[in-house]
Amino acid sequence: MRISIVGTGYVGLVTGACLAEQGHEVVCVDVDPRKVDMINAAESPIHEHGLSELLRRHVGRGLRATVDLRAAVRATLLTFIAVGTPIGDAQIDLSFVKKAALDVGAAMRESGDYHTVVMKSTVVPGTTLGIVRESLELASGMQAGSDFGLGANPEFLTEGTAVADCAYPDRLVLGALDARTQATLEQVYEGVDASVPRIVCNPTTAEMIKYASNAVLATMISFSNEIAKVATAVGGVDAAEVMKGVHQAAYFTSHVMGTRVTAGAARYLEAGAGFGGSCLPKDVSALIGHGRSLGLDLPLLEAVLEVNRGQSDEVMRLVSKHVSSLDGTPVTVLGLAFKPDTDDVRESPAWPIIAKLQAAGARVTAFDPVARPVAHPAMTDVMLAGTLAEAVADAEVVVLVTRWGAFTQLADLLRIRPYQPLVVDGRRVLNPSDFERYEGIGLASSASPSPRPKADPRQASRRPGHASVKRSEPGAQAG
Ligand code: NAD
Repeated sequence: MRISIVGTGYVGLVTGACLAEQGHEVVCVDVDPRKVDMINAAESPIHEHGLSELLRRHVGRGLRATVDLRAAVRATLLTFIAVGTPIGDAQIDLSFVKKAALDVGAAMRESGDYHTVVMKSTVVPGTTLGIVRESLELASGMQAGSDFGLGANPEFLTEGTAVADCAYPDRLVLGALDARTQATLEQVYEGVDASVPRIVCNPTTAEMIKYASNAVLATMISFSNEIAKVATAVGGVDAAEVMKGVHQAAYFTSHVMGTRVTAGAARYLEAGAGFGGSCLPKDVSALIGHGRSLGLDLPLLEAVLEVNRGQSDEVMRLVSKHVSSLDGTPVTVLGLAFKPDTDDVRESPAWPIIAKLQAAGARVTAFDPVARPVAHPAMTDVMLAGTLAEAVADAEVVVLVTRWGAFTQLADLLRIRPYQPLVVDGRRVLNPSDFERYEGIGLASSASPSPRPKADPRQASRRPGHASVKRSEPGAQAG
């Protein structure tokens, strides 16, 4: 099928490349000519595993990019709208969606042909049949459901594994206003394995499924962080062990060919430095704002965000257990991307942590294996290191924020230093016994971590006599 996608970001580009892989003829539209030029040169503007290969395979054949939205719509049978839906004044900002719908409608008026428009962006329930329908009808002079097709097909890909998620989705939510749109959507996804559940519903239900899916993940993360807070205060309890025990429940496990397998949901039942990214914080905020506009308070979701905001304070509390003053102290933050395997730094948990470290007077160095957000306002006065070794060479405190695999080399890099920094593990990925002074979220100072290999005896002692660094409390090694 000839398909156009308006908005060529993380969702639009990955969707376009995967649809081209499935044999469709795809035109990606964006207002950013730099992105368009890069895509047409088969270069990926984002870091996403497998995407460059797909671009090399399909650009110039079944995939191209353009800034000319109207020509793209006229040349295709179906348009996905995949523009950003940021949070505005405590409400979802639908201005990009509205502009895109008006432009698509104007192109439909020019061609006069039957066209199908499908919302892929995450939008609050009622948007497709509300502002999108109104904008399309106004600009095209046509009627939704008869003169043109309308639907909502939210996206569930996760950055870092977006190509695989798109090629092998866990579900397809097909929300259509009319039977013809339903049939068109089924045709679009003909190439997706028949065993993938198709949830056929109206567009508003489809929109709500997306919000409920993100809200439950955010809730599980904040739940785990609250449990970790209790575990830390009780003492002698490691929240990571608690959560491992929770993960073993029958409702979080299944048997696959005789082997007990933990459900993917368990990944969200772990304490850490909080959630970020372009989806969870904004979508939970949008749902709360939408609830408010309907006269509803959503105290559970408010608390989910509140707990999440508190995680940067938890990191600071762990630092201050060892460092009485951060004034002038070199502190290294490891990880700027909101999660590993992406360069996306939107709403990264690193930003409030960096802001609080700087407010306390720390000299902050940051390192990320991929993200290079040099122009981000939060990077003002932050030194961006080129390598992990350079980043931690002089640090007195190292705070791990993102679960990048490369950070497991940290212990080896620190071992060769003459004095040891405090390591604060915001993701509980490091082995506490590899470090002279270690703190981990959810690991109380008096807790005994699970038995691990002994620390390397070459580990040198901390730099003597530095005034701002407190002596380790007994057991501080354990966190
Ligand atoms: P993004 O910011 O990466 O991309 C949006 C793109 O739309 C940008 O390139 C922008 O230039 C372009 N754009 C804006 N207005 C336009 C217009 N009028 N015409 C053409 N292009 C226009 O956003 P994203 O992360 O891809 O997210 C898009 C939507 O998908 C959002 O609603 C988001 O919530 C949702 N979503 C995102 C993810 C994710 O992991 N990023 C996952 C699922 C759903």
